[in-house]
Amino acid sequence: MKCIGVLTSGGDAPGMNAAIRAVVRAGVHYGCQVFGIEHGYQGMIAGAIRPMDARSVSNIINRGGTILHTARCKEFMEPEGRVRAAEQLRRFGIEGVVVIGGDGSYRGAQALHQEHGIRCIGLPGTIDNDIGGTEYTIGCDTAVNIAMEAIDRLRDTAASHDRMFFVEVMGRHSGYIAMISGIAGGAEEIIVPEEPTDIGALIETMRLGRQHGKSSAIVVIAEGDDAGDAFQIAKIVAEKSEFKDSRVTVIGHLQRGGSPTAFDRVLASRMGVRAVEALLEGETGKMVGIVHQQMVLRPLSDTWECRCPYDPGLSQVARILAV
Ligand code: ADP
Repeated sequence: MKCIGVLTSGGDAPGMNAAIRAVVRAGVHYGCQVFGIEHGYQGMIAGAIRPMDARSVSNIINRGGTILHTARCKEFMEPEGRVRAAEQLRRFGIEGVVVIGGDGSYRGAQALHQEHGIRCIGLPGTIDNDIGGTEYTIGCDTAVNIAMEAIDRLRDTAASHDRMFFVEVMGRHSGYIAMISGIAGGAEEIIVPEEPTDIGALIETMRLGRQHGKSSAIVVIAEGDDAGDAFQIAKIVAEKSEFKDSRVTVIGHLQRGGSPTAFDRVLASRMGVRAVEALLEGETGKMVGIVHQQMVLRPLSDTWECRCPYDPGLSQVARILAV
């Protein structure tokens, strides 16, 4: 294989640029021509495809976002859209594509391979760390650190005013960011979608904290919790208890931007190199993951068929330490 493409698709995540850089430079190293495909599958259909050399990815390892831009593309969901995309790839001589994105993007990649024989390798790029087959995704460590910093700052003001703060972090189906940033930030309570939420128990925990001499509290909530968002949970707590003067902070999109951590940069670099090697070995329909610190190749279908294991032990650690 002499000609490969790289694109970013779906939600953006810090470290995607480091992954693009790794794909381009590994491609150059192995003697390939690398093309950047802009705006995900939308650019693939439109032919927004440009050659990339080693210098085209200078000074981006430290930058958040994605220089190739990302998008969601309805047209690619239909077979006709994929016919047009495959035609464009053939026009540029692209035989294999590295897709940096989430499981939605991989379903597209799978279809592109099955219908048109284009080899596809996925790299997990999402802050939520909710992709089956890998212990970490590119961007999740940065997002966790941003959330932790926010919790640290809120703790200062919560402690000064003897207040309770509800902090909502991202994670529609995954409590990873909430759990890890919550433990790292010393949260009194962490509410995640993987466990049913008991508001009565939450109030009891807060009361116990008061009895133990705590004058303030931080409750971290994953946005996808079954009990509602942070505003709704704060309202229910106020209605049912003496904790009426709380504050709510939604960190929101701040978690997606900014300079990636060393962990995410190195993860993206390792995965990008492995993705190119996998294409050159003739692999397709696989995602590069990390398991026990090693790069592994998993079928793309694992990413939507296997659930990410949730570790209730982390919840237990958080509870033990919140006294
Ligand atoms: P993510 O990759 O972050 O999970 P999405 O689920 O939004 O993000 O998917 C990104 C893009 O991948 C979609 O806009 C669409 O173009 C493509 N895609 C998603 N699901 C499919 C599918 N079942 N078949 C073909 N393409 C898909």
